[in-house]
Amino acid sequence: MPLNTWSTRWLKTSFVLLLILVGCGLVLFLNQLETRKSTESTLSIQQVRLRINPILLNLEQNNHLLQEPEVREHLLSIVKENGVELSYVGLDGTILLSSSPASEGKQVNLRSALHYDLNHAVQATNGNDSLNIAFPVMTGPNGSQIGNAIFTIPKTIFMVNETVIFPYFILGTLLVTSILLGFLLIFMKRKIRKRMLSPIHQLKQHAESILKGQYNDQIQYNRMDEMGELYAMLDLMRTEIMHLSELRIRQEKAQKELITNISHELKTPITTVKAYIEAILEGLCSDEETLKEYMEIMRTHTDKTARLVEDLLVHALQELGQISVEPREVYSRSAFETMLNPIGHIVRMNGLIYEEPEHIPNVLIRMDPIRIEQVLSNLVSNALKHTVPGDSIRINAELDLGKLRISIADSGQGIRAQDMPFVFERYFRGNASPSARNIHEGTGLGLSICKSIIEAHGGHISFSSKEGQGTLFQFTLPIC
Ligand code: ADP
Repeated sequence: MPLNTWSTRWLKTSFVLLLILVGCGLVLFLNQLETRKSTESTLSIQQVRLRINPILLNLEQNNHLLQEPEVREHLLSIVKENGVELSYVGLDGTILLSSSPASEGKQVNLRSALHYDLNHAVQATNGNDSLNIAFPVMTGPNGSQIGNAIFTIPKTIFMVNETVIFPYFILGTLLVTSILLGFLLIFMKRKIRKRMLSPIHQLKQHAESILKGQYNDQIQYNRMDEMGELYAMLDLMRTEIMHLSELRIRQEKAQKELITNISHELKTPITTVKAYIEAILEGLCSDEETLKEYMEIMRTHTDKTARLVEDLLVHALQELGQISVEPREVYSRSAFETMLNPIGHIVRMNGLIYEEPEHIPNVLIRMDPIRIEQVLSNLVSNALKHTVPGDSIRINAELDLGKLRISIADSGQGIRAQDMPFVFERYFRGNASPSARNIHEGTGLGLSICKSIIEAHGGHISFSSKEGQGTLFQFTLPIC
C-alpha cells in the first residue's frame, strides 16, 4: 500500500479512537457530576420524609387525645418502628411527649433546638451520629401552630449511601480504545522504522557509495510505493552518473591518445620534409628532375600537415560547438573540377587507379569550398590509407532529388562490420588489416569532422562497405 494512503488511514483511525476517548471521558465526567448532585439532595429528604410523615400524621390526628396513655403508647411505638426518636414540645418549650419519658415535662430552649431546615439540621449535628429536625404541628384553631415535633434521626437514615451505578460500559470502551490506540502507536512506530527509517538509512549508504565513485552496487527496493519510486529514481541517477563517468574516462583516454597521434602525425611529415630540405642543401640533388621530385614529395607531406592542422582547428571548433562554415553560391562543376585536380594527382602518385567523374552536373549550390575540399581530402586520404597500390579510387557526381551527390569509392580493404556503427564517432579508429598501409596513422577525427561540415551545409553523409571489397562514402549538398 502506498505510504500516503497508509498514513491517511492511520491518521483517520487514530482520530476516530481519540474521539471515542474524549467522548468516553466526557460521559464519565458528566456522570460523576450527576452522581454527586443526586447523593447530596436525595440522601436526606426522601428517607427522612418516609420515616417522619406517618408519625406527624398520627400526631396531628390524635393531638387532642394525647392525654390518653394508649394513644401516647401507640404513637411512641410508631416512632420506634421508624427508628427515630420524638420530642413533642409545646409552644412554651415544655416537652409534652418524648421517646425518653424521663424528659417529659422538661423545658427545651426553642431558639437553639428548633431546626426546620434540613441543611441547618445537618450542620448542627457537629459530628454527632444523629440530627434533630423540627416540624411544626399545625392542628390549632384555623390551622394555627400548637407545637413542634422534634425528631432525632440517626445518621444511618439521613445519610443514605446510595449505590452509585458506575458506567462500566463506558469505562470498558475507554480501556479498549486506549489499548487499541496504544497498539496502533506501537504498530505505527515499527512500521515507520521498517518502511521509512531503514530504507532512508539504506538510501543514505547508497548515496555515500555513489559519492565515493562506487557506481556498480545496484539499489533495490521491492515495494512500489513512494519510497520505491525514490529508490528507482536514485538508481536511475546512479546509472546515469555511471555512464557519464565512463564517458568522461573514455574521453580523457581518447584525448590522451589524440595528443599522441597528433604528435606522431605531425612528426612524420615534418621529419621527412626536413630530411629532403637537408638533402637539397647538401647538394645531393644534382639535376632539376630530382629536385622537382623532391619538391613534390615535400608538397605531399606539407599538404598532409596542413590537413591535419585544419582538422584540429575544426575539431576545436566542434568542441566549442561553433564549427565555422561560410557557404556562398557557386557553380558545382567549376568548384569540384578545381578541387578534384590535385586529388587525382595524389591518387595516381600513390600507385592507385584514379577514376574521375565522367560528368559533373553544373548546378548552383551553396557551399564553403574550403570546408568541402577538407571533406573530399579527408575521404580520399582515408581511401588511400585503406588501399594498396593497384587498387582504384573512383569519384562520381550526380543529381539526386534536388541534391548534388558526390561519392568516393575505393576497392580497398573495406570496413569491418563491427566497426561500422562507430566510424563517424569522434576519436574512433578502426582496426586496419595488416595489408593496409599507414596502419598506425590517423586521429579518429576525420569522419566526424566530415559529418559536421556536411550537416552544417544541410546535407547528409553515409557509407556502404564490404570487408575485403571496398568502401563507398557519399555526401549530398542541397541545390539552391
Ligand atoms: P582516422 O582515419 O584518423 O582513423 P576517421 O574518422 O577518418 O579516422 O576514420 C575512422 C575509421 O573509419 C578509420 O579508423 C577506419 O577504420 C574507418 N575507415 C574510414 N574510411 C575508410 C575506408 N575508405 N576504408 C576502410 N576503412 C575506413
